[in-house]
Amino acid sequence: MTKPLDGRAALAAAEAKLAARTPRSAAAFDAARRVLPGGVTSNIRYADPHPLFVREARGGTVWDLDGNPYVDCRLGFGPVLVGHSPEWVTAAVSRALMGGTVYALPHAGEAELAEKVVAAVPGAEMVTFCSSGSEATLHALRLARAATGRRKIAKFEGGYHGVHDAVMVSVQFRPEAAGASEQPVATADSPGIPEETIANTLVLPYNHPSAFDLIAAHAHELAAVIVEPVQGAAGSIPATPAFLEGLRAATRRHGVVLIFDEVITGFRLALGGAQEHFGVQADLVTFGKVLGGGFPFGALAGTRDLMRLFSVPEARAAGGPPVAYGGTFNGNPTSVAAANAVLDFLREHPAVYPDLNDKGDRIRREVQTAAAARGIPLVALGMGSVFSFRFVEGPVRSIRDLVGEDPGLREALFLRLLSHGILGHTHHSFLCAAHADGDIKRVVEGYHRALDEIVAAA
Ligand code: PLP
Repeated sequence: MTKPLDGRAALAAAEAKLAARTPRSAAAFDAARRVLPGGVTSNIRYADPHPLFVREARGGTVWDLDGNPYVDCRLGFGPVLVGHSPEWVTAAVSRALMGGTVYALPHAGEAELAEKVVAAVPGAEMVTFCSSGSEATLHALRLARAATGRRKIAKFEGGYHGVHDAVMVSVQFRPEAAGASEQPVATADSPGIPEETIANTLVLPYNHPSAFDLIAAHAHELAAVIVEPVQGAAGSIPATPAFLEGLRAATRRHGVVLIFDEVITGFRLALGGAQEHFGVQADLVTFGKVLGGGFPFGALAGTRDLMRLFSVPEARAAGGPPVAYGGTFNGNPTSVAAANAVLDFLREHPAVYPDLNDKGDRIRREVQTAAAARGIPLVALGMGSVFSFRFVEGPVRSIRDLVGEDPGLREALFLRLLSHGILGHTHHSFLCAAHADGDIKRVVEGYHRALDEIVAAA
């Protein structure tokens, strides 16, 4: 590389290229933004110049309104591990649909699914279901507070655990307000989050040993530490095994509940998720995404001692109230049918995991080699079938290591990939079992071409 990269020029050229390919998405966006705030129903889906509007998705491919096909590496931000709408999922869900969609009463599919989750997840003795990952983390934190009688929860800088107030803290890194790396200052990620909530959330540094000292210093008031074994929204940053082991030791020593948020890694890194991969066991584990096979889903699993605090009869027998737990659509028969079908498939096809993880490694290796050959500083991130590339020198151990990146380059790479038929995301992209070797080749070739175009724009 002779000239330095120019993010602004690369982005302008990439936006112009994409606009010519997607006039129907542009028109649909204009219509949507008149009645939907920002034209989207989840802010992270907003993108300049406009988000792609989807016509349909099948297997590992998604088509936009203009009929352009993409190798889908966005995959709904992770739920789609077995491919979009495989026949055996839609058949199971159709059968369930014929029997009604919501009862507010138990049905046998729930316990059937619970048996499978408990068998798959290390350390899980009981599990309960809800409708999203956000609900799962909310319930996990309340359970931990009830079990310990302590007020504060701890999360990591850059960690994303859903949309509720307690965890909408220091998800983004604001250098001007975030303090020193060994003791981050908690910052709100949205207007509308009360200061009292922020005060009850302790923010810890990811992959940094001072997290253990902070846990010790706050142990008397700390109910739980919640952690993503691979931080997804922060940019697909894996924890080191030693860090997770250290966390396990520190929380155990101080009677703090350790919660692994496996909404992304659960049933994706391995059937037993990150706990199986790292060989570290949490007290509570939250799930969502993959388990629902594309349907709205959340789950909270853990030790019997903790989970039984939700139990009405056990609380009555002990003479106190249970920890509140509810949700109109919890355990609804269609989502449960999809989850049962997905877990059956994954148990019967264990080769899915080494295959997907190899494909992820191949993409990380080959794209990084392509960047190095062009003299571009690009770090490959992620683990297994979660991947991402960032324009920094590295190594990347936490969201703070991404600070020097030119955001224009990151956005330009995303848009250029779209123009080459690859749909990913700037922070985390995914692979699914429906991606064939040819798809992986197209993804790598897409990166080669996109990197060339970014160099050419400088
Ligand atoms: N936890 C993690 C690690 C996530 O990545 C997400 C969503 O992206 C959530 C929790 C929240 O899940 P949901 O969007 O289903 O509420």
